Amino acid sequence: MRKHWPLAVALSLLAVLGASCASEGERAPGPLRVVTTTAILEEFVRAAAGPDAQVVALIPAGSDPHSFEPPPQVAQDIARADVIVVNGYHLEGNLLEVVAENRRKDATVIVAAEGIPALAADHGEGGSAHGNEPAADGLPALAEAEGDPHMWLDPDLAARYVENIGAGLATADPTQAAEYRERARQHAERLRNLKQELASMLEPIPPGRRNIVVFHDAFAYFARAFAFDLVAGVLPGEGGREPSARDVADTVALVRQQGVPAVYREPQFSSAVLEGIAREADVRVLELYSDAFGQGVSSYEEMMRANGQALVLGLGTAAAR
Ligand SMILES: [Zn+2]
Repeated sequence: MRKHWPLAVALSLLAVLGASCASEGERAPGPLRVVTTTAILEEFVRAAAGPDAQVVALIPAGSDPHSFEPPPQVAQDIARADVIVVNGYHLEGNLLEVVAENRRKDATVIVAAEGIPALAADHGEGGSAHGNEPAADGLPALAEAEGDPHMWLDPDLAARYVENIGAGLATADPTQAAEYRERARQHAERLRNLKQELASMLEPIPPGRRNIVVFHDAFAYFARAFAFDLVAGVLPGEGGREPSARDVADTVALVRQQGVPAVYREPQFSSAVLEGIAREADVRVLELYSDAFGQGVSSYEEMMRANGQALVLGLGTAAAR
């Protein structure tokens, strides 16, 4: 909602703008308008921005970001935004083109994952670690760089996202820079505490049982953070396609070979394939959250705690085989 400015204030503001920053992008007075790609990023922005920004996620909270097909009104939301927050490492697939085409040239683009070394999408070391220089389409190169984009599943790295977002907001709106940075600092601390909480929660799972089998390949940073082994993602690489018969057979073989007692579906994907795998290998199917929220889980902290509980339930020593 736009504020109405009394004429005198508006005139003096114009004078100030004219004197000091006529050459910069002219942001309308009033709250900073921010769009994010995912709902998780929206939550991080709200934490850093406080009550004064309008924040909208472009991708619905329960949808897969890799395969999201942006409806037409997304272009307008992007065109109106002062700040656009993307994950980085091509998480958002097709949506990035729409961002590049429709953003205002003076809008600030924040790449939440900036400065975090990426794992390769196939779990080796090192995706490309470009700086934040613009690519051909004008977006920061990191927005579309190669590498595994799912860093937020390590709460320490989620904390880095929040700090990056705070710094980006401070650049976009210097009048409140100190507030953005301070809120981001506090929220980052909260996420680092969450990591300790989760590590304690996961203690009932002994090292020999810390094997995760999931549908899509989102859990490499999580596995590294909490000393799990990512045995298999049924769907290798980016989401948005169907696993092949070979992918399925390979996963069944791995589950049997390693005696993994449970496999994990994700709410934004059909669970049919994973349920077939579980039937063939005679193991349970439980749920993990990765890129999207689901029923009863509408925040990052809720989703990470739900993940901790589901892992203890499926892999802890008390779990039935
Ligand atoms: Zn993903």
